[in-house]
Amino acid sequence: MKTKIIVAGSINMDLVTRAPIPRPGETVIGGDLHAFPGGKGANQAVAAARMGGQVTMIGRVGEDAFGKQMRAALEEDGVDTAFVLPTAGTPTGVALIVVDEQGQNSIVVTPGANGRLTPADIDAAAEAIAAADVLLLQLEIPLETVQRATGLAAQHGLKVILNPAPAAPLPQDLLSKVDILIPNEIEAAALSGLPSGSTAELQAAAANLLEQGAGAVILTLGDRGALLVDGQSKTLLPAFAVKNVVDTTAAGDAFAGALAVAVSEGLTLPEAISWAAGAGALAVTKAGAQPSLPTRTEVQRLLTTT
Ligand code: ADP
Repeated sequence: MKTKIIVAGSINMDLVTRAPIPRPGETVIGGDLHAFPGGKGANQAVAAARMGGQVTMIGRVGEDAFGKQMRAALEEDGVDTAFVLPTAGTPTGVALIVVDEQGQNSIVVTPGANGRLTPADIDAAAEAIAAADVLLLQLEIPLETVQRATGLAAQHGLKVILNPAPAAPLPQDLLSKVDILIPNEIEAAALSGLPSGSTAELQAAAANLLEQGAGAVILTLGDRGALLVDGQSKTLLPAFAVKNVVDTTAAGDAFAGALAVAVSEGLTLPEAISWAAGAGALAVTKAGAQPSLPTRTEVQRLLTTT
């Protein structure tokens, strides 16, 4: 039977072009403009659905064309959109993304309807939350909404996974209800107030987040893998080698969605991280956010052939 994952988070249309990342005041000419369904919340919901989870998304879109497309994209991957609410007078969130020749990206997010997702919207989904195994969150919706979802999930015994992106100051009360925190290097530095350059610094930053209350910290390090720090150990788990990096957008989302499914199925954290790293590695081999998210079969194949 499929495990149940709730994702409360952002839903954005990603408008993507290939170009040198412009400096302030500079105009550059880009390639063709592509519109891809995205948003960290929606991406992670789709990632988890493709990895075999039964996923329900809680979020908001505008009453506009992008909103309709975003809902359709979620439904195409089997994500339940009963709690994806239409929002009058506010546009669907949009991310403006520039990807350069090295595959590095630069992003401006306009939250739109995502900023209108309220604690009351979470309460409206209380029954679905109570019946789920894992709650997966990011920080592209209001913090008070993240807090309400976390509180409800903790009350009902769900595992809470927070990808603290983009980084924002987090109250200790929130972190103490997070079972697994998944920051990247920038987010770990921002949340811990510590540098995150050398291995020792990364370990100290992750240990600090553990002290702030998170049950376990998985610090993702791009092609260098992920550092797992929990009460028992500090372990660096490697990434899968990728020859052709096309676009690093959504590597972290693929990682988080896959991790949520693996954890919901009862895998240990090192095992779950291996699945997640496989999903992250496959995501960087294709352009765009949701189009690049791999299926369970693709990840299984990578894990068995590596
Ligand atoms: P974010 O996209 O949030 O900054 P990361 O870049 O750390 O997150 O990527 C998340 C995970 O995806 C990494 O821990 C790694 O497992 C995988 N990954 C990312 N980039 C690569 C890459 N170039 N090669 C292989 N795996 C990668």
